[in-house]
Amino acid sequence: MPDSRATSHNSRKLPSWLRRPLPAGESFIHTEQVLSSLNLPTICFIANCPNRGQCWASGTATVLILGGICTRNCKFCSVPAGKPAPPDPTEPARIAEMAKKLALKYLVITSVDRDDLPDGGAGHFRDCINEVRRQRPEMKFEILTPDFHNCQTDALKILHETLPFVFAHNIETVPSLYPLARAGGDYQRSLDLLRLAKETYDNVPTKSSIMLGLGETDAEVEQTLKDLRGVACNRITIGQYLKPSKNSLEVVQYIPPEKFDFWKQKAFQLGFSWVCSSPFARSSYLAEQENTL
Ligand code: SF4
Repeated sequence: MPDSRATSHNSRKLPSWLRRPLPAGESFIHTEQVLSSLNLPTICFIANCPNRGQCWASGTATVLILGGICTRNCKFCSVPAGKPAPPDPTEPARIAEMAKKLALKYLVITSVDRDDLPDGGAGHFRDCINEVRRQRPEMKFEILTPDFHNCQTDALKILHETLPFVFAHNIETVPSLYPLARAGGDYQRSLDLLRLAKETYDNVPTKSSIMLGLGETDAEVEQTLKDLRGVACNRITIGQYLKPSKNSLEVVQYIPPEKFDFWKQKAFQLGFSWVCSSPFARSSYLAEQENTL
């Protein structure tokens, strides 16, 4: 396949493979009403995810806990940065209510970065999982966590109390683009967290996600996949970066669907056991499906 380094071009016109009908339908509206009546933010809405129509219509949503304000300011992300409020003790019960009303069997929980909290927010993840599990013992969980800067060991210990789950942390992009896209993050720190999770939890699948189209080269993408396998990461999603808000980074390139097929094969060759690679792949997209995609 040709190399994907590209010069910046007009990204306003979406290629045909990225056009989707506007979300609608009864189940979609039901999901939207449940989330809004419980005042639960979702990354689906905040990140303007293109899969909302499909996911919400099938009763899946990814809740964003610990408030809608992030202590970082990543340029690929549309979550506002600032000084967040303390964790809301009513949130676990509201999430449990949502899971009941939407009859969820698999719940993905993610959060903003909470560098202001000594445990990075791990205790609140635990409280949310425990409350949902108390009310719905059959629920399966996937947690998509921040990098737990300065408290990785303690945070993973706290989360240990809530096993089992799939443990996900997104590498997001290649290391050369961190200063541009993820200035508050650190590539090695993210790898360290995935390695530590693997060492801390027996038999827990670990998962990561990378966005393409920010100006990365093929060699960099391949090396990032290898780095993730180097810390025994099992699952990967590879998707197209789409500018989520007017202040976010521009798209540098729209990667054609065939290239995502190429990366899917490559990821399998490198040893990932579960791969979701397509222009619409997101960390939580089709997360409940056990089979590789
Ligand atoms: S892919 Fe994830 S973030 Fe996007 S709509 Fe589906 S559940 Fe929400």
